[in-house]
Amino acid sequence: MAGNKTLAIIKPGAVERNLIGPILAKINEAGFVIKALKYTKLKKEQACEFYAVHEGKPFFEDLTDFMSSSPIVAAILEKENAVNNFRKLIGATDPLEAEEGTIRRLFAESKTHNAIHGSDSDENAIHECDFFFSRVERF
Ligand code: UDP
Repeated sequence: MAGNKTLAIIKPGAVERNLIGPILAKINEAGFVIKALKYTKLKKEQACEFYAVHEGKPFFEDLTDFMSSSPIVAAILEKENAVNNFRKLIGATDPLEAEEGTIRRLFAESKTHNAIHGSDSDENAIHECDFFFSRVERF
């Protein structure tokens, strides 16, 4: 059975452009419940750890520089089939390929600066929620 939690990150760029409110509104409108929320900033090595699966790929340096460049908002979101439903809400990695109305289509600037992250499997969702939040920070 699919899990009911996923990890979202409002990325640098979107935070800088004052899009925390509009993006959280879209998330709420789509029926996700915020179970934990944090405004923070990743160090370069923490961004590298979070995206370790992409190490060695051509975009890895730019991605991890970007993700550690300024503050982000991390959130644990709850809904049935959370991972798949949230990935539908955010749209394709490249905003030019993302469907109309998706968060990336609405708010992303480019394939790297693409406004928002969503976990890609239940297993990664658990790992990513643990990366950002301790047990006493989630409800
Ligand atoms: N990314 C990039 N160039 C690419 C592929 C990915 O800059 O060709 C960045 C982009 O910010 C993306 C992140 O790396 O969100 C992680 O890539 P993934 O393939 O996991 O995409 P996602 O699951 O975020 O859609």
